[in-house]
Amino acid sequence: MSTAKNVPALFGSMVFNETVMKERLPKDVYRKLKKTMREGTAIDADVAAVVATAMKDWAVSKGATHYTHWFQPMTGITAEKHDSFISPTDDGGVMMEFSGKELIKGEPDASSFPSGGLRATFEARGYTAWDPTSYAFVKDGSLYIPTAFCSFTGEILDKKTPLLRSMEAVSAQACRVLKLFGKDVRRVTATVGPEQEYFLIEKEDYAKRKDLIFTGRTLFGAKPPKGQEMEDHYFGSIRPRVAAFMAELDEELWKFGIFSKTKHNEVAPCQHEMAPVFTTVNIASDHNQLTMEVMKRVAQKHGFICLLHEKPFDGVNGSGKHNNWSLSTDDGENLLEPGKTPSENAQFLLFLTAVIKAVDEYQDLLRISVATAGNDHRLGANEAPPAIVSMFIGDELQAILDAIEAETDYTEMVKTKMGLGVSALPDIPKDTTDRNRTSPFAFTGNKFEFRMLGSALNIACPNIMINTAVAEELRQFADELEGAADFRAALIDLIRREVKAHKRIIFNGNGYDDAWIAEAEKRGLHNLKSTAEALPHYTDAHNVELFTRHGVYTRIEMESREEALLEEYYKTLRIEALTMIDMVREEILPACISFQHDLAETVLRKKEAGIAGGMESGLLSEVSDKTETLYRNNEALEQVLNHTPVGKVQEIVNYYHDVILPAMDAVRAPADQLETLVGKKYWPFPTYSDILFYV
Ligand code: ADP
Ligand code: MG
Repeated sequence: MSTAKNVPALFGSMVFNETVMKERLPKDVYRKLKKTMREGTAIDADVAAVVATAMKDWAVSKGATHYTHWFQPMTGITAEKHDSFISPTDDGGVMMEFSGKELIKGEPDASSFPSGGLRATFEARGYTAWDPTSYAFVKDGSLYIPTAFCSFTGEILDKKTPLLRSMEAVSAQACRVLKLFGKDVRRVTATVGPEQEYFLIEKEDYAKRKDLIFTGRTLFGAKPPKGQEMEDHYFGSIRPRVAAFMAELDEELWKFGIFSKTKHNEVAPCQHEMAPVFTTVNIASDHNQLTMEVMKRVAQKHGFICLLHEKPFDGVNGSGKHNNWSLSTDDGENLLEPGKTPSENAQFLLFLTAVIKAVDEYQDLLRISVATAGNDHRLGANEAPPAIVSMFIGDELQAILDAIEAETDYTEMVKTKMGLGVSALPDIPKDTTDRNRTSPFAFTGNKFEFRMLGSALNIACPNIMINTAVAEELRQFADELEGAADFRAALIDLIRREVKAHKRIIFNGNGYDDAWIAEAEKRGLHNLKSTAEALPHYTDAHNVELFTRHGVYTRIEMESREEALLEEYYKTLRIEALTMIDMVREEILPACISFQHDLAETVLRKKEAGIAGGMESGLLSEVSDKTETLYRNNEALEQVLNHTPVGKVQEIVNYYHDVILPAMDAVRAPADQLETLVGKKYWPFPTYSDILFYV
């Protein structure tokens, strides 16, 4: 049965959006709320009260009985606690009520969210505060109110507040710069379109693998005979069950006002991608969190499990998230769109230079923003960008920057090379042909694509880094240019100087090439190979100065975040190691023993029957040796786990990286060999061949 879908009617139908607000709010309340949304001003109690009632009535009409303050603690996932709207009446009944106070502020018992040591236990409760800049929505019978999460002492405990602060910072500085170009802009918004990769596997396969259940990735698994080498999955035709999943996913996302736009198969078997149309970064961030959740739920309805881990399977590509980022004025001018006129291009080049300088000076922060135990399996493994942060700008832009840099004198340049002076810049051809998939930070015509994010990441963190770093460079540029006697001359001098100073970050070649690692080292670029190596740089002096200057984080908030990230790293590895030990003891060793038992029987029986034949005993001794090794290495893993140092969290992290990870590899290697030797009917869980080629 196919019925035509009314997508426009469906779109945003579960969202308390502009249309609903206009319909349900008195004009003056609507105007005040819009002002808050646009300018980030505080909201009056009486306005909040009216909004709350309207929101509740609308939510009830959509089937809601509860409301929840929806927030994003430092773990990066979303958290929610549901309260019903009911309020007892005198006659023993109930009425549905929702006050302005309840809308604005919530007090979840949040003592067990990570705080990186920030919250003393006596003040363990934090509170949530409504974020009017992101729309509320109804899901599963609850009104979801996007909120920020803070401690009672005012320190922020979530990912949304610093994101909003970083948006303020970049807006303020970008407006200053635009003023120099004669533009009176009230607000500049960071826009983001995150492309989301994921795997779909059969629910039954998932249920049989403890590693997938506990850690989200396979800890064992021999390479199947076929991987992704035929490149037959990328953009391949979508199988009917997957297509049905994607169709329902689109519909569900559209109801929440999420601009799900593009869908296709990805490189690895079972791997797919969804890309939304870009929007304001804090909304994009909320939407991406919601997208991941909806993906998982819809997958289950179709008999699948959606894996969002960065590296669910060894030997085939992992999943990432491409963070397409740009800046846009409130009139909709994209500041990273090369212009048509010379003066537009001067402005474009200044913003481009700011991004180049930002990425160079804060390479470490960008690397840290994507550092997780899971993503360590991708970065630098020839499937995702290398761990070295660099930028791709394409040949045309490179030629222009080269020319600007080569000129020694502004006036001379204008005279002799009419082509490239700021007063006569050429049309910059829009290069949309970028297929340099190896670059971590690529200019793609009118935006930058930051490609180092793992698929499970909350996109707030990288965008906090990008927004704030760019804000800082724009601040420096504005300071310098506001005082210039000859703006045009000062502008070209500045661009030339900064391009020269930061061109080391630009690399248009192949990022997978080993020669690049050596070259990057020569250029003095960071190569922070692992999370353990990267995280300690979070609180380096220049980073603390950056965030405190722009009011995004206090030093204490940064220290707590570093601590929370370090803890998350080693706890993830600990769960993985314990799961491994358990699977070896409970499942793999018994399987190997049964197989050996049957082999030994066969060897004996054949001998009794007088048949000489060595293959069974050869196989038996090989399996026996490897099983011994597996047993020993598994015991060794447990030993090293038991000897984890007590003390500073960084020491624990280093120990996990240097000692536990290699011990885990030593367990996996013989187990994967055994998988190929031991008969299929003995193996205790589905293999890569079973899992990867049937969905
Ligand atoms: P690709 O070639 O990488 O698929 P697309 O043009 O399809 O490139 O865009 C990929 C993503 O970039 C989409 O999510 C899109 O909405 C987003 N995007 C496009 N323009 C901007 C912009 N100005 N700011 C942020 N994201 C953008
Ligand atoms: Mg892309």
